[in-house]
Amino acid sequence: MNSTKILIVEDEKDIRCSLSELLREACYQTIEATNGRSALDIFSPDISLVILDVMLPDMSGFDVCAAIREKSTAPVLFLTAMGSETDIIHGFEVGGDDYLKKPFLAGELTARIHSLFRRSQFYNTASHEVKASCLSYGSLKLSLERNYCENNGLSIQLTDTEYCILRLLLERRGDPLSPRYIYEQVWNEPFLDNSSNTVMVHIRSLRKKLEMDPHHPKLIQTAWAKGYMISKKEKA
Ligand code: CA
Repeated sequence: MNSTKILIVEDEKDIRCSLSELLREACYQTIEATNGRSALDIFSPDISLVILDVMLPDMSGFDVCAAIREKSTAPVLFLTAMGSETDIIHGFEVGGDDYLKKPFLAGELTARIHSLFRRSQFYNTASHEVKASCLSYGSLKLSLERNYCENNGLSIQLTDTEYCILRLLLERRGDPLSPRYIYEQVWNEPFLDNSSNTVMVHIRSLRKKLEMDPHHPKLIQTAWAKGYMISKKEKA
């Protein structure tokens, strides 16, 4: 068994136990919580991923996610019976990385977990070959070796997904990147009808963290009918 720990937060015993069994078969260590409070008590930096039910008895999974985001960038996968677009967008806004609607297929869950880990591990290790250690743009600095971002001398905590999107935009400065391209590159999954919303929500969240005025973005611009871009010329 490898040392990767996954926290499962789910109040329905049958679902919790079958999730745990499935993940143990896939050689992950699992820790279980039956409500939001105990999830936050149990959460520690050595937890690599969180599977989070939205409807918990004591608090909403969205609030649990927001509290986890104050101290960690570990990937969060929401499990939700509520599948409306508003719910899904809200899940991304509070820092979730992916979601799966109940009932779900075991194969889909493990595929999504593997994809989240691929993203997270690739960007959190310095093992991949990089010539420069950092991408700079005006007062913004983005490490190429791990998920670390600095703006105006202040460290900005980005989720792994936000980091990947920002890095892609910085590496392709001057090119408008379509939501489809961004989704396929960052999520590494086929683009579906609601995928451009997923990208949009993450762009919105990046703007909130990086722009002086997120409603009039200077860094991540919208190229009408083309997508998103960071211009080639650095703005003062
Ligand atoms: Ca529940």
